[in-house]
Amino acid sequence: MNSTAFERSSEADRASAKYDVAIVGGAIIGSAVAFFLKRLAPAARVAVIERDRTYEFASTLRASGGARRQFSCPENIEMSNFSLPFIASADETLAVDGEPAHVEWHAGGYLFIVGPGDVDVLHRNCDAQQAHGVNAQWLDVDGLRARFPSMSVDGIAAGVLTPEDGWCDPNGLLQGLRRKARALGAAYVDDRVVAIDHDATAVRALRLASGAILRADVVVNAAGAWAREIAAMVDMPLPIAPLRRFEHYFETPTAIEPLPYVKDTARLAFRPEGRGYSGGLVDSSEARGYNFDVDHDYFERVVWPALAHRFPAFEACRCRRTWSGLYEQNELDGNPVIGNGSGRLANFHVVAGFSGHGMMHAPAAGRAIAELVVHGRFESIDLGRLGYTRIAAHAPYPERGII
Ligand SMILES: Cc1cc2nc3c(=O)[nH]c(=O)nc-3n(C[C@H](O)[C@H](O)[C@H](O)COP(=O)(O)OP(=O)(O)OC[C@H]3O[C@@H](n4cnc5c(N)ncnc54)[C@H](O)[C@@H]3O)c2cc1C
Repeated sequence: MNSTAFERSSEADRASAKYDVAIVGGAIIGSAVAFFLKRLAPAARVAVIERDRTYEFASTLRASGGARRQFSCPENIEMSNFSLPFIASADETLAVDGEPAHVEWHAGGYLFIVGPGDVDVLHRNCDAQQAHGVNAQWLDVDGLRARFPSMSVDGIAAGVLTPEDGWCDPNGLLQGLRRKARALGAAYVDDRVVAIDHDATAVRALRLASGAILRADVVVNAAGAWAREIAAMVDMPLPIAPLRRFEHYFETPTAIEPLPYVKDTARLAFRPEGRGYSGGLVDSSEARGYNFDVDHDYFERVVWPALAHRFPAFEACRCRRTWSGLYEQNELDGNPVIGNGSGRLANFHVVAGFSGHGMMHAPAAGRAIAELVVHGRFESIDLGRLGYTRIAAHAPYPERGII
């Protein structure tokens, strides 16, 4: 499909709720796709079908807001190289009628620290990031001690600091993308997709819970942790599972130096937030499922010991709030699926499975899908290796930047 095809759309199509592109899921990924589609092909009729306009259970509203360039796969580094500056200037880019978005970007930096067993991986990752123009600074133990005096380097062999990384308000970015996409003409439909009409070669229409049928030339699956259920509607196996993760807000009375977003070998990850800190510790062995229950002992039992071990100033910290959310975990390799299936259903695109990085990569992923839909190929970043082909072939393409 190309942009002139959009311009040929007939009035008859408009009258019968026929869209050029229908996006299933209207949180941060779906809204980023809608925004970039409308920017690339202003005449395209774009519908975003979102079942809950409050986004109560959407991962986006439960995210920590971290955005970094510290990855191993060139695709992920490049997606960050585009997405982070986009987020940093999103207040202006996403302004509507002079009213800015409220993304609250904070370039506080990211710090990865590892033990002796992971030094080689960290080194390779740092080299890869630098080769892609990232300001990634290698820190040995003395360097870490000098830079972060409150940190215990017990068991730590090295670290990498990327001072231009940071964090933002995920809801601010979502609302900014959504508002701008609507201002550019995208329609948000408050409904739930319950089935997808398709034949052997193409997707034809979405069936909604209200009974409405919405025809579309292209369908994009941006349903996050629910993406597997949407894919199953067209008999497409997708190894994306909901993985519960807790996020905590905590405070400590002991004053310490300003910290970046710290990621430890124990998968402890936290950053400053207001008067305190926000973060958590991912348990990858957690049973998969749509479970939002909060284990209020988790902080005391798991997070606090790891935190106090690494930063003794947190011995006296108090957890003020814990919430749960879902990672949309790609069980094959922890990387997203971006693109369509080969040989079948060429007009059905997946953009899901970000496994904990969907907020930071939403701008690049949205632009990539827009390019694929409008031009039939990735133009800015070649994301071919993240397509559905590797899923069908059971050929993992793992990210080694998640240490
Ligand atoms: C605790 C936690 C911390 C995180 N921290 C970070 C971080 O620091 N940095 C980062 O980049 N990422 C982080 N993430 C991951 C990030 O939140 C996700 O990758 C991202 O939000 C995925 O966005 P999404 O739009 O694909 O999914 P979601 O936000 O889950 O949106 C999916 C949408 O699809 C809708 N939907 C589902 N099924 C249907 C249907 N049948 N019909 C209509 N609509 C449907 C849902 O209602 C929902 O609104 C974190 C996640 C969690 C849980």
